[in-house]
Amino acid sequence: MPTINRIMLNAGHYSNYYNQGANTAYYESAMAWKLQGFLKTELERYGFEVDTTRTDINTNPAPYDRGYSAGDYDLYISLHSNAIDNSPSTRRVVVIHSYDNFNNSSVLGTKLCKNISRGMDIPGEYQLYSLKSEYGNYEAYLELRGARAAGCPLYYILEHGFHTNYGVSTWLLSDEHLQKLARIEAYTIGQYAGRKHKKGDINGNGMVDQSDVNEIMIMTENLLYGEPDDQRMTADMTFDGYVDYSDQAMAQNIVNGTYIFPYNV
Ligand SMILES: [Zn+2]
Repeated sequence: MPTINRIMLNAGHYSNYYNQGANTAYYESAMAWKLQGFLKTELERYGFEVDTTRTDINTNPAPYDRGYSAGDYDLYISLHSNAIDNSPSTRRVVVIHSYDNFNNSSVLGTKLCKNISRGMDIPGEYQLYSLKSEYGNYEAYLELRGARAAGCPLYYILEHGFHTNYGVSTWLLSDEHLQKLARIEAYTIGQYAGRKHKKGDINGNGMVDQSDVNEIMIMTENLLYGEPDDQRMTADMTFDGYVDYSDQAMAQNIVNGTYIFPYNV
């Protein structure tokens, strides 16, 4: 498993009006740009160094060049939503990784597709996918081909469901939902890279126990006094950005053995 310190993010496409969804207010390019901003913030909270392939939503580098810009980075993540394959009822999350499972890319790829589908309220509707060029031993997807050629060890395209589905495109229109997705994706990458404790494990002993529940309870009562960021992130089990009773209840249910936290895949 490659060490991950530096991450290059790519918001797919350009401008605010590219690839309209089934909900006609939705555009893939606008969603990807917003999600990129949220994800950069969340990844930086895990201590990663994060850059983006472009700083202006209206610029449109070629896909190969976007990937190629990840040469000095440990991970390339490209943000998209998908278009129709067979039916407007298709919703699933698709994560595209290297065609030859380079550096065991399927490991993080599988975690990402499971957690993104759960975060989008379509748990289990996911697919880990890859495609080799029909012309030789290289990636069919130009972004991924560029990242590989530049020497980036891990690279993915995240397709956040099919925007040709009305429910998916409507779900993705919410900033609150995109922020939650960013927190989930950052947590998934952070756990893979060995950053910070598992959700709920405030005391860092490797499990959620009664002392963690008690700590979370104190945090919910002392919000104004600002616990350290690390602790608040660990306590926010519902990924909503707050430490509140729902987090405490979830941790208590884990201690009681009535709930298994689903994001530690
Ligand atoms: Zn796209």
